[in-house]
Amino acid sequence: MSVRLRGGASVLRRADGEVQVGAEPGRAPVLTGLSEDDTAMLVQLGEQAHSARRRARRKQVGPARTRELYAELSRHGVLADDAAPTDPDLLHWEAHGVDARERARRLSRSAVLVRGQGPIASRLAALLASVGLGAVRPFGQAGDVGGLPMGVTPALAVTVDDYTLHPLSARAVAQSGLVHLPVVVRPLSVRVGPALGPERLLCATCLALHETDADPAWPLLTVQSLLLPAAPMEGLLVEQAAVLAARAVLDCLGDAPWRWQATSVDIGVDEPLGLVRRWEPHPQCLCGQLLAGTQADTPATCVSEQLKPPSSSSS
Ligand SMILES: [Zn+2]
Repeated sequence: MSVRLRGGASVLRRADGEVQVGAEPGRAPVLTGLSEDDTAMLVQLGEQAHSARRRARRKQVGPARTRELYAELSRHGVLADDAAPTDPDLLHWEAHGVDARERARRLSRSAVLVRGQGPIASRLAALLASVGLGAVRPFGQAGDVGGLPMGVTPALAVTVDDYTLHPLSARAVAQSGLVHLPVVVRPLSVRVGPALGPERLLCATCLALHETDADPAWPLLTVQSLLLPAAPMEGLLVEQAAVLAARAVLDCLGDAPWRWQATSVDIGVDEPLGLVRRWEPHPQCLCGQLLAGTQADTPATCVSEQLKPPSSSSS
């Protein structure tokens, strides 16, 4: 059997008879009780990912002991018996313990639609075009998508709007039935998320109601902002916002869909680390009431409890 360590992991000596697989702190399985021959074999198993020449020098460990060591590596999820990928993305996701080839197949069947103008939308579209998606297309006025490759279906829409989530963006994406990741570009900061849409906890109206709670003038300001020219944006912030949005898209497509369900991140020169905001469904929004109503006859879940308006949560 030809085997390898997932993600091209290296094997590092920790002490006599003890090695760890991988160099990521806190994520590297430790094997103990090893002989010097065991250790040498494991170290060379790690080296073979980086140098085929060294494979010939592998120390001899008996077949029974080799099977024991392979079983131990398998138990830790770090052993593979297929050909090693050469794509760094695949190796990286393998190292995370993910079926990287299945992830790549999933992305290759997914189209992402981008609606918006300006440098962040352009940079985001370019980044998304480089991560193995089946297609990245502009989101048309009616949300119609034509000319997708065979087997590729729309999976998510990103909108990039200036100042506020544009009502036309929100409506067009809502009608498409796709998961919606809004990106809002304001003069000094960019907000990515939260994810909206079908089976999500929030809708665009929830966000608008929360904004109005925080500032009663928000609706009047928003109407005016729709007519404003785009604010000038620092080049570095364009890059940072586009990369964050691209990561959020991949999270929503399956890497970590829960991460953006009720969470947004604001970044800017004042918040380069990102200001994380958790959102609740707005109690006056119909989306929460409708969902709570449809779940009234079903057993209570964490989700339905969160969606009930405060006035009915004690009933
Ligand atoms: Zn809502």
